[in-house]
Amino acid sequence: TSREQWSAVDDYLVETAIRPDAASDRTRAATHEAGLPPIEVPAGQGKLMGLIAELAGARSVLEFGTLGGYSTQWFAAAVGPGGTVTTLEYEPRHAEVARANLDAAGLGDRVQIRVGAALATVQELIDSGAGPFDVVFIDADKANNANYLDAALKLSRPGTVIIGDNVVRGGRVLDDSGTGADAADVAGIRAYLQRQGDDPRLDGTALQTVGGKGWDGFALAIVRDVEPGVAG
Ligand code: SAM
Repeated sequence: TSREQWSAVDDYLVETAIRPDAASDRTRAATHEAGLPPIEVPAGQGKLMGLIAELAGARSVLEFGTLGGYSTQWFAAAVGPGGTVTTLEYEPRHAEVARANLDAAGLGDRVQIRVGAALATVQELIDSGAGPFDVVFIDADKANNANYLDAALKLSRPGTVIIGDNVVRGGRVLDDSGTGADAADVAGIRAYLQRQGDDPRLDGTALQTVGGKGWDGFALAIVRDVEPGVAG
């Protein structure tokens, strides 16, 4: 099976099984036109995360890594009027493009974009007593993934859903040599997955995906209530 076939099936599924969504298509196109890297989630995954947020009855979402606001927009639509999405982005230019896209989609008033290194901006959220969030999506610099998961747990309640993207990386997730081109990202992902499996507060899974963006995957976990003393 070739990558062309994965891609063709992906296109077929999106065209056939997903209700057309002109607003998110516009945001994807505008993001590419603005010259931002085309590394947003695929349409099928954006839709899935919107559905997950809806299934969870989410009113508040925290996102690490905004880019042009494509995934942000799926969450903003899912939380409904009065819901909020807080999204953390390092690059001012990305935040600017996202702001324009979300405003154009009529969802800007639901979205707060915090510009800066996410480790710092998420700490500000923790210090200011923000949260708990209903859904957290971790999709920024993967090297920091385990740190972002720790921060996410501080902003969670039992029932919070935590999603982590790009956990397979064309199979490189198995490479623990520390020598590959994206070794720091792989190490961050491996630490994240290990934490998800080990931490008694987390109960999750991880799935491989193939499609137009090649071979990758995502992790999904729910935060469990843990008796004091059990979490350690
Ligand atoms: N979630 C977006 C989507 O699916 O539409 C894609 C996000 S893209 C994969 C990753 C983003 O994280 C980029 O916009 C990048 O600038 C941002 N980023 C990288 N390092 C960061 C950091 N330390 N803090 C916050 N954002 C960072």
